[in-house]
Amino acid sequence: MKYIVIFGPPGSGKGTQSDKIIEKYGYAHISTGDVIRAEILTNTEFGQKAGEYIKEGNLVPDELIIEMLAHTLENTEAKNGVIFDGFPRTTPQAIALKKMLQDHGGDVDTMLSLEVPKEQLVERLVERGKSSGRLDDNLKVIEARILVYENETAPVMDFYKKEGTFNAIDGVGSIDDIFGRIVDVLG
Ligand code: ADP
Repeated sequence: MKYIVIFGPPGSGKGTQSDKIIEKYGYAHISTGDVIRAEILTNTEFGQKAGEYIKEGNLVPDELIIEMLAHTLENTEAKNGVIFDGFPRTTPQAIALKKMLQDHGGDVDTMLSLEVPKEQLVERLVERGKSSGRLDDNLKVIEARILVYENETAPVMDFYKKEGTFNAIDGVGSIDDIFGRIVDVLG
């Protein structure tokens, strides 16, 4: 079983590249953002709580999101591997993921860090906001999300550098070019 983390700032293309990885490698996909949005739509207790954070561009507190992730992982059927998209977003989440995977006799095999300059992130997210219907794809919240990324999420890179699984991926170019760089790493 392979465990892959796809990492990067909002708008870096994690979801888009995850779809391509799933298609080629047959991995199961866990996107914490997608799970949260589904829970908001069905108005669960978790969805109500998480919605308060998501709409401001803030992170859902570690305790809540780690519990949700553990639950999602238990209920995910994976044959070859799992790709984590949008998790971990803090160092405590990275530590929690390592513990969870240890219980399954595994660990994160590869961390793919998509690198895109800030100006392009804002451009892409504003564009996506025109059709995504996502409440957090408006300029004010986009800027808040990028700031949260820089302050709270970027340190997660150091964790994986120490683990020896960190791989920087140039996230600028066509979807297929970027995917080609990912395949070079995943093999
Ligand atoms: P993006 O990467 O474009 O911001 P996501 O769908 O991954 O989109 O996340 C959207 C929002 O969901 C985040 O801004 C945050 O509020 C919440 N969220 C998703 N994953 C996590 C996480 N691992 N920890 C805390 N909050 C999260």
